[in-house]
Amino acid sequence: MKDSNCIFCKIANGEIPSVTLYEDAEFRVIFDIGPATKGHALLLPKEHYANLFELDDAVAAKVLLLAKKVAAALKEATGCDGFNLIQNNGTDAGQTVFHFHLHMIPRYHNDHAIGFWKEGKADTEYLQELAEKVQKLL
Ligand code: 5GP
Ligand code: ZN
Repeated sequence: MKDSNCIFCKIANGEIPSVTLYEDAEFRVIFDIGPATKGHALLLPKEHYANLFELDDAVAAKVLLLAKKVAAALKEATGCDGFNLIQNNGTDAGQTVFHFHLHMIPRYHNDHAIGFWKEGKADTEYLQELAEKVQKLL
């Protein structure tokens, strides 16, 4: 299914032109319009899924395989020193475009391009309870 109001549906399906690194029947990989680093790419399914929770299982299974393949090529092509895969779900997690996408971000020595989380302290009792709750839901 496509969403006629979704910019990534339009880009993924070629209605809006983009510089494309990779395309097949189900996916398109493009460059981010506001890149964190040189070569920052976005992996988009052609079908509309708002986020990870809506993503079709068969599509989900292909996402990491494709990401692995494209990341290896991007690493070689850019000569980057490291690589992040980042995927945001929901406004509170930093998602701004509500069509599933995987950020593929080449990292360069000392680029300081991405701020990661502040390290907290693990609460073992809470984590034990949470693990049991999650196990029941799986
Ligand atoms: P999010 O914050 O949802 O994880 O990431 C959305 C990303 O999409 C941002 O990094 C933003 O720069 C990128 N983006 C938003 N609109 C466009 C667009 O029209 N074209 C491209 N190539 N990237 C876009
Ligand atoms: Zn969409």
